[in-house]
Amino acid sequence: MKITIDRDRCCGAGQCVLAAPDVFDQDDEEGLVVVLDESPAPEHHEAVREAASVCPTATIEVTE
Ligand code: SF4
Repeated sequence: MKITIDRDRCCGAGQCVLAAPDVFDQDDEEGLVVVLDESPAPEHHEAVREAASVCPTATIEVTE
């Protein structure tokens, strides 16, 4: 799995962090998404897919 984000789209809603806190964080300045691990281990894949699906701005692209 490979995670790609388009930070220009992110609105800082934080849904991704709630869904997959081991993989996503938000920066302290603007609250925009930060990817902690662009190639997460298999145990995180389901949470990452959930994060991508709940993101309101379709910021997170997941390539399997
Ligand atoms: S859920 Fe989407 S819009 Fe919200 S912080 Fe995460 S990437 Fe940004």
